[in-house]
Amino acid sequence: MRENPFGQADAFTHADQNAHDQQTLIRRARIFNMGNPSSNHDCADILIKDGIIQAIDSDLSYCIDDATQIIEAEGNLIIPGLINAHFHSPTNFLKGTLNSMPLELFMLYEVPDGKDAAVDARTAYIRTLLGAAEMLKLGVTSVQDDAFFLPYPTADEYDAVMSAYRDSGIRATVALDQPEIPELDKFPFLADLVPPVLKTQLSAAPEMTAEALIACYHDFIQRWHRQENGRLRVAVSCSAPQRVTPAYLAELDKLSKLYNLPFYIHMLETRLQRVFGEVCLDKRSLIHYVDDLGLLSERMNVIHAVWIDDDDIARLARSGAKVIHNPISNLRLGSGVMPIHRLAEAGVTIALGSDEIIADDAVNMWSVMKTAALIHTLSSPNPDHWPDATSILNCMFTGGAEAMLQKEELGRLEVGYAADLVMLDLDTLPFTPLNHLPRQLVYADVSRSVVMTMVAGKVVVKNGQLLTINEAALRQAARECYALLAPKRDALMQQAAERLPFYRAMYDKSLTVEVGMNRWVGDIPAKNGKP
Ligand SMILES: [Zn+2]
Repeated sequence: MRENPFGQADAFTHADQNAHDQQTLIRRARIFNMGNPSSNHDCADILIKDGIIQAIDSDLSYCIDDATQIIEAEGNLIIPGLINAHFHSPTNFLKGTLNSMPLELFMLYEVPDGKDAAVDARTAYIRTLLGAAEMLKLGVTSVQDDAFFLPYPTADEYDAVMSAYRDSGIRATVALDQPEIPELDKFPFLADLVPPVLKTQLSAAPEMTAEALIACYHDFIQRWHRQENGRLRVAVSCSAPQRVTPAYLAELDKLSKLYNLPFYIHMLETRLQRVFGEVCLDKRSLIHYVDDLGLLSERMNVIHAVWIDDDDIARLARSGAKVIHNPISNLRLGSGVMPIHRLAEAGVTIALGSDEIIADDAVNMWSVMKTAALIHTLSSPNPDHWPDATSILNCMFTGGAEAMLQKEELGRLEVGYAADLVMLDLDTLPFTPLNHLPRQLVYADVSRSVVMTMVAGKVVVKNGQLLTINEAALRQAARECYALLAPKRDALMQQAAERLPFYRAMYDKSLTVEVGMNRWVGDIPAKNGKP
């Protein structure tokens, strides 16, 4: 692994607080697990060594030796660490920057075009660390980062991203999310709506070819996959099927199969993407298209899946692909409401994601769970179709672990599983009085009760303070770093604003195409024409 100049010696990360192989005993905790209620305990000890849970029993004090770190947990609850199954770290500086707008317009600002969008390695490191800090403090122990690189990936930048995850202590699976076809080919109608000069700009081939991207992946896998005792891993990503060639999609699938890597793919997030299938794929949906290519698989993380129909759901169920539900992002971008009940009924595994900070403004998986538990009451008058707290917790832990292809290692507090866990103080307002643990975990905003976060047996947050990161120094560095980007950023935002009317015209035109479904709620026309 290449040494990173912003590693442990940097001003805003600390050296290891406790060695990976140190034995730890958590004493007298209340333990809550999903999936296996028999493994819940009102009061038990958890013995941890080498990052793995070694034993859970009523009294393990006989295991204590001179080197054992003891964590007294009486009056506290221990649950598995939260799993953020979908995230894009490159927007970590952009909370609160935009009004809500449809994805296709939003992306003009989120992923600006041009060389000036590039950042240096130090910026990428600080930016990644900022998101990791927020997640760890809120009890997120695992993240799947579908990282994009502007204008294309470089070893310096992905090394910086991985170094930040290494130094923060979070568990991270990271992909290189990079389209490789011209912008104009990713959308219906746009070619007919833009003026000639812009048409030329949008027709330009991306700077990195599929061949070069695959070479990047080989380098990325070789240097980072399964580093830090498997805490850091690599996934593959095509961004979305309409943003790449079928040949590149197939090459990514080969890599995914060869190394058993999750495959991130955004599909049918928006109505306009459904229209893309009608207009550009001979009326096939994007999921149908990928299935026709023979590439839907149990390794696929299908991100969003809002504008899906029963045929898509059957294809997802048959393939074993996982769906990642990002309800706050869907609300922020007006994407619509995913048909969660129909997916669950078909047996599709569902995990939860925050999506990116520009489309959520926080990385708070407690908020994501609450929103997921609430929003689907808008979709059906039948209360049997509304998810309950337990099913949402199942999506968080079991779904998240399955999406990461680590269901034998993550998401449970059981012997042999990774010691990724969160300790919550039960003597706090969200738990007072304690009526129903699953419901209070989902609905009562218990983010305020997180007192300790442990990843792979290592305490990374204690009494609400990050142990791996000097947070004050990081916040200062992030502000300085972002200020330096301002002049270039202003120019890029101006360019996005100039392109906006043409993308808006495309969006409006897409609303006139019948797609046979409605995923918005309220008193709006379900088809044909602008609301
Ligand atoms: Zn996304």
